[in-house]
Amino acid sequence: MPPKEFLQPHDVLVLGAGNAAMSAALTARARGASVLMIESANKDLRGGNSRHVRNIRYTHNAATDYVTGRYDADEYFKDLMRVTDGNTNEELMRFMIDASEDCADWMLAQGIKFQPPLSGTLGLARTNAFFLGGGRAMMNSYFKAAEKAGIDIVYEAEVEEMELDGSTFKAAMVRHGGELHRVEARTVVLASGGFEANIEWLKEGWGEIAENFLVRGSPMNTGKVLRSMLDNGAKPIGAPDQCHAVAIDGRAPKFDGGISTRIDCVIFSAVVNKNGERFYDEGEDIWPKRYAIWGRLVAKQPDQVAYAIIDSKSMGLFMPTVYAPFQADTLGDLAEQLGVDAPTMEKTIADFNAAVQPGEFNATEPDGCHTEGLEPKKSNWARKIDTPPYYGYPVKMGITFTYLGLEVNKSAQVFMNDGKPADNIWAAGEIMAGNILGQGYAGGTGMAIGNVFGRIAGEEAARHARN
Ligand SMILES: Cc1cc2nc3c(=O)[nH]c(=O)nc-3n(C[C@H](O)[C@H](O)[C@H](O)COP(=O)(O)OP(=O)(O)OC[C@H]3O[C@@H](n4cnc5c(N)ncnc54)[C@H](O)[C@@H]3O)c2cc1C
Repeated sequence: MPPKEFLQPHDVLVLGAGNAAMSAALTARARGASVLMIESANKDLRGGNSRHVRNIRYTHNAATDYVTGRYDADEYFKDLMRVTDGNTNEELMRFMIDASEDCADWMLAQGIKFQPPLSGTLGLARTNAFFLGGGRAMMNSYFKAAEKAGIDIVYEAEVEEMELDGSTFKAAMVRHGGELHRVEARTVVLASGGFEANIEWLKEGWGEIAENFLVRGSPMNTGKVLRSMLDNGAKPIGAPDQCHAVAIDGRAPKFDGGISTRIDCVIFSAVVNKNGERFYDEGEDIWPKRYAIWGRLVAKQPDQVAYAIIDSKSMGLFMPTVYAPFQADTLGDLAEQLGVDAPTMEKTIADFNAAVQPGEFNATEPDGCHTEGLEPKKSNWARKIDTPPYYGYPVKMGITFTYLGLEVNKSAQVFMNDGKPADNIWAAGEIMAGNILGQGYAGGTGMAIGNVFGRIAGEEAARHARN
């Protein structure tokens, strides 16, 4: 038997139950539309990758209770242009940034709480507001607001396929209780995330090495809705190998390891591959600006693994990790514990130490402490690794979310391959983030994209359904 919610006609069907889906559902409901959300997870795992977030980057013209200062649209735009290297839809990016100005106020109105600005080495206190209690608390507030608003939610319901007539949404085929049900609605908002949890799909962009990737977020984001939309003639955007990925502890679980598995000591370390060789400038920039590149760098190393090596001087300078580091009194012993070629690693660190120039070390900002005559160089925080005990963290690529998605316009309408927007289909969040993020990332942008386009999608879908 299908759940009763599947049999009632709804104005707006929202696929997923993360930040983008909630932004759409609550907005559509506030405009008077009846809303049904379909969520593949159970109540414990509901909320997808949004359960893991900590902050949102949004435009603001002054300090508030949650941020330490002004972050205007021009600066946001420059930051995103730099990290994406201009690989974006500039107009849509500008639009998203301008519209992000009321993200925090809108979230507060839904009962979401923010914490006072963070201090310390994070460097995001001015630009990003942090959710009090993290992503789970944020999602719990969203679910509470949705229940209060009278939004129907069916859990453990996975959309397998979309049924379209040309560019018109007709129904979603949803597996629930072991059976496949046809769920109709006047309009649909696609907010079911990317395909980062689908290793077979990742292989289409990355080849066999994707087998070794770890997935930082929800195992639910397998991209079934995206795949079905592409099969039905929706227009793709973004490259299959572009994604947000970071360096995480190689001992993290395959899925859902979350934030605490991230390795933040890269800037203080020498990172070697399993052959014991360095391969990139660890001190290129402060970690919030550069950390998103390290997942991709590690993915290109043999066996898709690397090792961040530090000595006792650097302990305590970075966010503590969930797994204790490997530890030894000599570099040779450490290499053996890590399974790294020991003679090469010892030579690599000796060469590194010999190249380090005198300077004044400062953990909190680029300090100019650098190497000379070394390839690759280290541009900042270069200190000799010479004070035992030595520590090593195994590092793997942890994929956060994918950028290949659906092309949309400023109304969050999904384009079809004929270049025209679909009649009654909108998209928000990871499934369309590739319109803004052709490559690269600036922390907190995922939430901004989901909230801005989610609210637009909800608004437009409600208007369409009720006309
Ligand atoms: C560890 C981690 C930390 C992060 N930290 C931040 C941060 O601090 N700030 C930030 O801006 N971004 C952060 N991100 C990225 C952020 O999580 C995403 O950009 C954002 O949450 C995406 O929201 P979404 O609603 O599009 O997708 P999600 O929140 O992933 O929601 C997708 C929903 O769709 C459901 N779903 C998937 N497939 C189906 C299907 N076939 N049928 C039905 N339901 C389906 C899922 O169960 C889920 O509920 C982080 C991500 C991770 C993994």
